[in-house]
Amino acid sequence: MGLLSKGTSLSWEDTKKHADHVRKVGIQQLIAHYHRLKDRTNDQLKFGDEIEYTIVRLDHEKKVARLALVGPETLDKINEEEQRTPQEHVQTAWVPEYASYMIEGTPGRERPYGWCVMNYNIVESNMKMRRNQLVKALEGTGCIPLCITGFPRLGCPSFTDPQYEPTPTGGLSNSLFYPDEAIWKGHPRFKTLTRNIRQRKGENQAINIPIYKDQATPSPFVDHIPTTDETCLKNTMADHVYLDCMGFGMGMCCLQVTFQAVNIDEARHLYDQLAVLCPIMLAISAATPAYRGYLCDIDCRWDIISGSVDDRTKEELGLEPLKNDKFVIPKSRYDTISCYIHPTSDAFNDKPFPFDEEIKKTLQTQGLDEHLAHHFAHLFIRDPISLFEEKVQQDPEKETDHFENIQSTNWQTMRFKPPPPGSPIGWRVEFRPLELQLTDFENAAFVVFVVILTRTILSFGLDFRIPISKLDENMRRAVKRDAVKKGKFHFRKTIIPGDDDDDDDETDGASPPAPQEYEEMDIDTIINGKGGFPGVIPLMRMYVNSLEVDVDTRCTIQQYLKLIQKRASGELSTTATWMRNFITQHPDYKQDSIVNDRITYDLLVACDRISKGETCAELTGSLHSRTIRDIETCPGTAKRKSQSEDVSVKHRKMSQNN
Ligand code: ADP
Ligand code: MG
Ligand code: MG
Repeated sequence: MGLLSKGTSLSWEDTKKHADHVRKVGIQQLIAHYHRLKDRTNDQLKFGDEIEYTIVRLDHEKKVARLALVGPETLDKINEEEQRTPQEHVQTAWVPEYASYMIEGTPGRERPYGWCVMNYNIVESNMKMRRNQLVKALEGTGCIPLCITGFPRLGCPSFTDPQYEPTPTGGLSNSLFYPDEAIWKGHPRFKTLTRNIRQRKGENQAINIPIYKDQATPSPFVDHIPTTDETCLKNTMADHVYLDCMGFGMGMCCLQVTFQAVNIDEARHLYDQLAVLCPIMLAISAATPAYRGYLCDIDCRWDIISGSVDDRTKEELGLEPLKNDKFVIPKSRYDTISCYIHPTSDAFNDKPFPFDEEIKKTLQTQGLDEHLAHHFAHLFIRDPISLFEEKVQQDPEKETDHFENIQSTNWQTMRFKPPPPGSPIGWRVEFRPLELQLTDFENAAFVVFVVILTRTILSFGLDFRIPISKLDENMRRAVKRDAVKKGKFHFRKTIIPGDDDDDDDETDGASPPAPQEYEEMDIDTIINGKGGFPGVIPLMRMYVNSLEVDVDTRCTIQQYLKLIQKRASGELSTTATWMRNFITQHPDYKQDSIVNDRITYDLLVACDRISKGETCAELTGSLHSRTIRDIETCPGTAKRKSQSEDVSVKHRKMSQNN
């Protein structure tokens, strides 16, 4: 979760006092850094994923599932294991996440996957290795790791193990539902963010999720929350489930992909192109139909996490006239991108957004172009919300902490990442909307899909850009129940350059496509093509077919593309639909939207089985992992001696090459 500096965290009051200083020095750091690195080029593709795991304790006697608050000690255990057998751990890295029932795993430090095509075949093995390490570290605790985006009963009474009471009138979260003990114990950042975001806002978050109205759901549905507090009660809405703190959002898990571009220009280009695919891929990855024990009418977590770290004051929300604050801000810190950043994308930025004029001027005077200056001047309207005393005084030339502070607490669908100081890493872009799938196979499919998509965009010069206003609308549609099957999304009719009938219409970035150049399409059309529209996957196949690939890797890629293809066409269910069906078909379910303890337990037992390899036809059909089996059915593939040996040898070779 971004910057993880340690130290003595300052109160919100003191952090606020330093806000201008942090912004000022942060911008100086950006400028110094930019000048050192703007001409850096010829970096190769490298990429890496981030998986946030949920640690669950299943009580098989009582038939209940609880979130086990063992993340910090599990991380210690993995680190000890790493000290003992460093060679077995070079390919993985583990870091804390928001909640004590979470932990994040990535490919090894300074060991991202490389440009060579064979790397697409390593992602899943690496994920498997991570899962095995985690399972091993949890041995004897009765806990299991799961790749679920949200625990269906997050915030219900006694959802954690050990159980703790929430503290609605004190503490960090001030929540009616979420005890502070659920927040990661070992690191101050998460607790500080929780308190400061709430204090900056001036009251608790209030997130209302539309309930799924089933036959026996009361109408209107009233969420009876355990309080007489007027403000809370005023914030609830009929027919909605109410959530009230950061933990409901940051206490959920996701899948992210970061990749390295050749240079800054390519990074900006891919940032813009992939931004358009965010809502589409979010909808295909949808995995969260239930919240606080209720089945809801959405399939994705996005709006909840957006609301959970929304620190805007009443003035910034436009509810009161600006007096103490500087801007009315239309979006949360966690939201879709506010603008495209490539110089040719200007015409698509059709929605004004607040930015700090002085910062923009400074950046431009110091040589950043208008578009990049605009982007950072927008990110820098935010206050720092976590600051350590020891880090207040910073070197504006050599360090980048203040820049990273603001940058890493702008949680947008895409993130444009400058190279870290003094490292071999180049300009990177992070793709951030995806929800988690149950298996390594599916998660690898999404990761590899996104990376091959970037290659296809570059190879064919594809152009997906639509006006930002349309992109925002797509995001609102993407989270809805069954968006893959029922949703319509604004999309360009022409994505291959020079493919339109009339060449004069071609968009060069100077003007946005005329309204007749995009239309509303369903996800099947966008991904698989229909009529005259080529579809994203057929283009990706053309790209893949043009590669020299070993059979083994080709088979794997084919399975991955087929998975996304079938999810997009509706032939296979999204994880959210599968979970929804599991819940509504459960004998304990009373058509009243309530997801009780027993249903949750059975659902998570099923998730566990699927994670361990049990086939779920609804989710994956006849598709299956090619990476972790001997692939005798693929002609020409040499039988492997030992999977793990094979993979680690490959991985070592790869890293040496890069
Ligand atoms: P975040 O700020 O998103 O937490 P991290 O530093 O944790 O970012 O890294 C995110 C991902 O970036 C990891 O999967 C890691 O493997 C990957 N990564 C590391 N180095 C590179 C690189 N040079 N190019 C692309 N990805 C990289
Ligand atoms: Mg991370
Ligand atoms: Mg990340």
